[in-house]
Amino acid sequence: MNQKISNKPVLTGMTSPEDDQHNIKTINPPIYHASTVLFENYEALKQANNGTYPGITYGTQGSPTQNAFEIAMADLEGGYKTKVFPSGISAIIHVLQAFTKCGDHILVCDNVYGPTRQFCNKILSKFGIKTTYIPPDIGANIIDFIRPETRLIFLESPGSNTFEIQDIPAIVKVARKNELVTMIDNSWATPLHFQTFRLGVDISIQSVTKYIAGHSDVLMGTVTTNEACFSEFYHYYRIVKINVSQDDCYLALRGLRTLAVRLKHHERSGLKIAKWLRKQKLVEAVLHPALPDHPEHHLWKRDFSGSTGLFGFILKTEYPEKNMADFVDGLQFFGLGYSWGGFKSLLTAGCYKRSTPSRYEGRTLFRVNIGLEDVMDLQNDLAMALDRISGAVDPTA
Ligand SMILES: *Cc1c(COP(=O)(O)O)cnc(C)c1O
Repeated sequence: MNQKISNKPVLTGMTSPEDDQHNIKTINPPIYHASTVLFENYEALKQANNGTYPGITYGTQGSPTQNAFEIAMADLEGGYKTKVFPSGISAIIHVLQAFTKCGDHILVCDNVYGPTRQFCNKILSKFGIKTTYIPPDIGANIIDFIRPETRLIFLESPGSNTFEIQDIPAIVKVARKNELVTMIDNSWATPLHFQTFRLGVDISIQSVTKYIAGHSDVLMGTVTTNEACFSEFYHYYRIVKINVSQDDCYLALRGLRTLAVRLKHHERSGLKIAKWLRKQKLVEAVLHPALPDHPEHHLWKRDFSGSTGLFGFILKTEYPEKNMADFVDGLQFFGLGYSWGGFKSLLTAGCYKRSTPSRYEGRTLFRVNIGLEDVMDLQNDLAMALDRISGAVDPTA
């Protein structure tokens, strides 16, 4: 046969999945690995040069896989637009930078994720941005902390490790009056159990790493803003050129498909174990917003549509190191590790420093991520650990 060389042998067939040659339709979007994006002709190149090209011009702008995830997230959050970051903490760092400048003052909830606090204290401070930590159960009294140079309020509810809840509508009311931007780390509740924008907060941050990706194999974060805040945020985002793995965007999108089903299971198992723990004689308190004796249970009930599988507890006694090791080292089902939101149950224990007076000052807080395992297995694992810590059972026997 007479082999003719096509005049466009490379461009056609290798770039676009809509290409007729492939004749394939899939449920999920394809994954693109791209730094360079090819333009069809001189006219398109000219448009790219002068900023009028309608499509993606370079890999730093993401790909259709990333766009598909961002659109799905914006939709779920009920916000205007979502952008992705390579981790939850990266999302937090960048959104704080996007909305501050030298001389600004920000209000940060005292129960924020530890690395958020570190970024404010060690890095934002270098650029002349001052942080004041506000009580984690704050509401309308936030007004007392506002200065002329206050620019934004950063919330996390329920807060990391101690699970206090803020009165968001009361805070939003004060923020609006004082023209402050409000943002919330919404990783615990996810958009399914807390609708940031319905409650009037301007910006929602997710550690996608947790429930959304859901399998402890992806690090990612998102920032979703309302329409009013988007242009200021996007001005920053375009310039710093955040790059996220497109394989991870694919996994995050896949995680979203089953989020609702998984979260129901986490919620149900978490509540069962929380209620069981509260009845154990060694346990002083269970820090779970859906339990009626949680100090801000009424706020949780009013503003959230569900709980999840992450909560804490404290014991009546502060045990010596040896007993702590007996408790932790004999666990069969709970892994020891940071992060949460995955199918495997995890446990951490520690003391947390706060800037404002804390209910749990100097106390050891246990935190559990209740995964998708059998509830009785998890409960028995904790029951045996409680026996070991109290010395009721000799762990070496
Ligand atoms: C884990 C976590 C983050 C950070 O997410 P990474 O993806 O691990 O960086 C932020 N906020 C909260 C509340 C978290 O628990």
